[in-house]
Amino acid sequence: MAVKDPNSILNLPGIGPKKAELFAKLEVSTIEDLLRLYPRDYEDRTRLLPIASLEVGVPSCFIASVLNTPMTHRIPKADRRALEVTKVTVGDHTGKLNLTFFNAGYSVEKLHRGETFVFYGTLSGDYIGYGMTNPLFEPLGNKGRVTRCIVPVYPLTAGLTNGQVTAAVKHALDIYIPRETIPEEILQKYRLPDIRTALWQIHQPADAQSLSASSRRMIFEEFFCFSAALSILRSKRTAKAVSPYVTDPTAFYSSLPFTLTGAQQRVIGEILADLRSGKTMSRLVQGDVGCGKTMVAAAAAFVAVKNRKQVAFMAPTEILAKQHFARLEPLFASLGYKTALLTGSMKLSEKKKCREALAAGDIHMVIGTHALLTEATVFADLGLVIADEQHRFGVAQRAALLSKGESPHLLIMSATPIPRTLALILYGDLDVSVVDELPPGRQQVDSFLVDERYRKRLNAFIRKQAVEGHQTFIVCPAIEEGETDSLKAAELWAQTLQSAVFPDLRVALLHGKMKGAEKDTIMEAFASGSYDILVSTTVIEVGVDVPNATVMVVENADRFGLSQLHQLRGRIGRGSAKSYCILVSDNQNQETRQRLKALCKTTDGFLIAKEDLKLRGPGDFFGSRQHGLPLFRLGSLNTDLEILRQAQEAAAYIIAREQALPPALEERIRRFLEQEDTLN
Ligand code: ADP
Ligand code: MG
Repeated sequence: MAVKDPNSILNLPGIGPKKAELFAKLEVSTIEDLLRLYPRDYEDRTRLLPIASLEVGVPSCFIASVLNTPMTHRIPKADRRALEVTKVTVGDHTGKLNLTFFNAGYSVEKLHRGETFVFYGTLSGDYIGYGMTNPLFEPLGNKGRVTRCIVPVYPLTAGLTNGQVTAAVKHALDIYIPRETIPEEILQKYRLPDIRTALWQIHQPADAQSLSASSRRMIFEEFFCFSAALSILRSKRTAKAVSPYVTDPTAFYSSLPFTLTGAQQRVIGEILADLRSGKTMSRLVQGDVGCGKTMVAAAAAFVAVKNRKQVAFMAPTEILAKQHFARLEPLFASLGYKTALLTGSMKLSEKKKCREALAAGDIHMVIGTHALLTEATVFADLGLVIADEQHRFGVAQRAALLSKGESPHLLIMSATPIPRTLALILYGDLDVSVVDELPPGRQQVDSFLVDERYRKRLNAFIRKQAVEGHQTFIVCPAIEEGETDSLKAAELWAQTLQSAVFPDLRVALLHGKMKGAEKDTIMEAFASGSYDILVSTTVIEVGVDVPNATVMVVENADRFGLSQLHQLRGRIGRGSAKSYCILVSDNQNQETRQRLKALCKTTDGFLIAKEDLKLRGPGDFFGSRQHGLPLFRLGSLNTDLEILRQAQEAAAYIIAREQALPPALEERIRRFLEQEDTLN
């Protein structure tokens, strides 16, 4: 027989192989896992009321004496065990209450006439009379086992009850001494309970106050480990010496058809300083849509290839990868460098050819999706990784890069204007540059908020633009099953427009559930002018450039966040013609209209982000799926920002001290850096 792992939950009473399998479904196999299976909710049974104050539908506790001997009737049933119904009346100085128990078995026999118990249940009833069914109860002297306590509610799986999990956790708390992850002085400074107390209180809270102190501690711990991991990541990167680059971008500058803006030049300057420093660069470049981040990245790429290093340029979508390729390939070719495209939808043989050329060092820059790094791509000498639109490039991927060959420089581009303070915390391992200027001569996009009454004029406007040879984006909220009634589901809307409104124009549809190749075909056809109108979900949100498109219509605009709307608006106004963004919403909510009107008034992405952040908090602000933010199990970026700030401060202090860390913390950090921490 195999030796039992001393940490396995199989050591707990009542857990055999079968139960263990069920726990495994909850990702619990060790006792520590079990203690980290936090309740998803609590049932607060601390409300204690006199009978007369009980409210219908509100679960509460009350203390009452048994007024008569319980009476049990059996109701025979043809197919099953007889139904046992027990009735008893209890009362206190404020009133009486009839209790009914179904199949309560021998437990109701404990309700002796004249004795006092604590009950927990929900009052039901109406003007005919009140009563309570199957309340829980225990003798007054039993200190809060099922009444007058806070009961944890665990995530469960079929076959496992809340009671079973609670019992297992209780055993675990009894026998297991958890290891402390937070150094003592930090616990004291931030007034956090130690790990043992915190775990007890999370699972068996004495009262609301100690529960809240303990959950604060667990949230702190989560952020603390994260921040410590970032600090370590950063110090590891900067500790590694790499050969400094010679950084002369003159040839690149003179190959461009335009002069770079002051902001572009400044940020390129910051990047080049990193590249010649002899240390590995980790830099996040933020800048509003259209500020010209691609050229900033290209300048860095040029310097890398000039230093005989290879560059991997990653885009979040194939569409964007192809667009970057179409732009950068000729530019780099004119400078004497070879660029290749590597995407998932390419033929296997083409991919293979590309990979071989990369491994041989025949290709200087490869552009593709982020699968570039995870797939078996081998570089002859990878010097720089560029992640455009930082989505999906989380901490684990940042950490993984370190192990890739000679630890390449990392440049992350983001159009999501994360407020600087938050960026400093979440990207604590990165330096941050901001491109805060748009290229000159940009057409201001005019924005309007309209409602359904405007529909006819809107359609006439779209037609007029089409006749003048311009194109229109129409964005609808995502297609979700069963959610078609009030929403302009993209698919339906595209059909309606084509058949009933614009039979003479060319309407295309693009949505997130299409296959990559299908999306590309449509996007390319639209970009080349084969369609007048593109109806789409937010898949076009990121980066795509169609200079001939002059109208962006957003249906049900109230469904979108401000930053998201701003991104959408950034898809137009890229050519020389005047552009228009039209937000359609019938939502009459005063606040909502205010919010949308605010967007129409300004085109400053950072200002909008600030506003958005104020309104929605960072969690929602980043959109649900499209960010590269770490997933926290407990902490929320909406409500726990202050804890995050403290945890980061504490982590920076601890790491800077360069003393040995608590082993449990080291272990958590290691796991953190290994785990896939993004949502995708
Ligand atoms: P983003 O920062 O949103 O990624 P892009 O890099 O896609 O912006 O640039 C948007 C457009 O502006 C592109 O068509 C690009 O060629 C153009 N552009 C970039 N820099 C300049 C500049 N300094 N002067 C004029 N046009 C520029
Ligand atoms: Mg871009």
